[in-house]
Amino acid sequence: MTATLNTVTVPYGRQWVDEDDIAAVAAVLRSDWLTTGPMVEGFEHAIADYTGAAHAVAVSSGTAALHAIMKALGIRLGDEVIVPAVTFVATANAVVLQGGIPIFADIEPCTMLIDPADVEAKITSRTKAVVAVDYAGQPCDYDRLRAITDRHGIALVADACHSLGASYKGRPSGTLADLTAFSFHPVKHITTGEGGMVTTHNPNWAERMRRFRNHGIATDHRQRAESGSWYYEMQDLGCNYRITDIQCALGVSQLRKLHGWIERRQEIAARYDAALGESCRLLPLKSRPDASHARHLYVVKTTAKLNRDSAFRAFRDEGIGVNVHYSPVHLHPYYQRNFGTGPGLCPHAEKVSLRLLSLPMFPRLHDDEIDAVIAAAHKVGSMKGDV
Ligand SMILES: *Cc1c(COP(=O)(O)O)cnc(C)c1O
Repeated sequence: MTATLNTVTVPYGRQWVDEDDIAAVAAVLRSDWLTTGPMVEGFEHAIADYTGAAHAVAVSSGTAALHAIMKALGIRLGDEVIVPAVTFVATANAVVLQGGIPIFADIEPCTMLIDPADVEAKITSRTKAVVAVDYAGQPCDYDRLRAITDRHGIALVADACHSLGASYKGRPSGTLADLTAFSFHPVKHITTGEGGMVTTHNPNWAERMRRFRNHGIATDHRQRAESGSWYYEMQDLGCNYRITDIQCALGVSQLRKLHGWIERRQEIAARYDAALGESCRLLPLKSRPDASHARHLYVVKTTAKLNRDSAFRAFRDEGIGVNVHYSPVHLHPYYQRNFGTGPGLCPHAEKVSLRLLSLPMFPRLHDDEIDAVIAAAHKVGSMKGDV
C-alpha cells in the first residue's frame, strides 16, 4: 500500500473493521433477532455507560437522531431552532422535517464553533431550542450556551456527530446538552454502517423517541411476541427509524476500540500541528483549553495568500484526499429558495468556509501516510502566489 502512495489517494476518513467486528455481526446473523432484538438494547446500554448519559435511544442514522430530537421537543410549524451556519445540512434539515424554521447563527472563525453572542442575538419569542455542533470533534462552550438557554427557558441540543469521546471541563460528550445526537456513519469515530443514537437525561423524551422510531407505536415486535398479543396502538405519528441488531453488534464491538482510536487521532493531530506551525499558509483551527478534542476532522484554513480551491487541487494531485467541511447551510439553494436566506446573514461563516480544508484523519492512517500528508502540505503551503 505504501509503495503506491503517489497513485493511491489517502482518503480524508475511513472506517476500521476487524475480525472481532465481523464475528460479532456473524453471530447476530445466526441468531433469532435481526432487528428489535437484544443487541439494540445492548448497544444503547454500552453508549449510555460510555457517555454517562441516563438514557440512550438507538436509531438508523445521525439524521434520524436529530429528527427524533426535534420530535421529542415538540418542534412544529413555525417554531424557530437556532443552528450554526457551518455544519452538515442534516442539522438544519431535522428542524425543517418537523415544520420548524432553522435560524442560522454565525460561528467563531478560530474554532468554527457556534458563537454564543450571535445565538443570544437571534433568540425570539418563537425560539424553542439551540443546536450546538461540536465541529471537528471539539465541544462548544456549553456553560455559556446553557446560561443563555436557561435564561430564555429553551432546550439545548448537541449535534455531537463529530464528538463521541470528547469532553468539556471533564464532562463527556453526550451529557453536555438536554439531548445529544451521534452518528455511526463509516467516517465517524465508530461505525454501524449507517446508524445513530440520542442520549438524554429525560425519560419522557427517551420514551417519545422510542415511539417515534417505531411508527409512533408504543410496543415493538419483540414485546408483542413476548406477551403473546397482537394488539397495538399508534399514539402519535412516527417513522421507521429502527436500527438492526446486525448494526448494533458492530457498534458494540467498535465501541471497545474507541478509546485507543481517539488517542491515535490525537497523536496524528499533534504531528500535523507541529508540522504546520512552519507552513504559514495552512493554519490549524484553535483548540479550546477547557475541552478534550475527539479529532473527528483535522481542519486547516488557507491564508489570504493561498486560494483554497487551488490548494484542494494541488493536494489531490499529490494523492492526498482532502475535503471541505462545510459550505454554509444557509447558502444552499434549498434554503435560499424556501427560507429567504442568503449572503450576508452570517459573515464569518461565509468568509471562513471559503478557506477550509480537511486533511486525512482516521486511526488507521499509517506513519508514512502522515509523512506524505505533511510533505504535500509543505509543498502546497509554499505554492507561489494565489494560483
Ligand atoms: C454525519 C453528520 C450528521 C448526519 O449523520 P448521518 O448518520 O450521516 O445521518 C449530522 N450532523 C453532523 C455534524 C454530521 O457530521
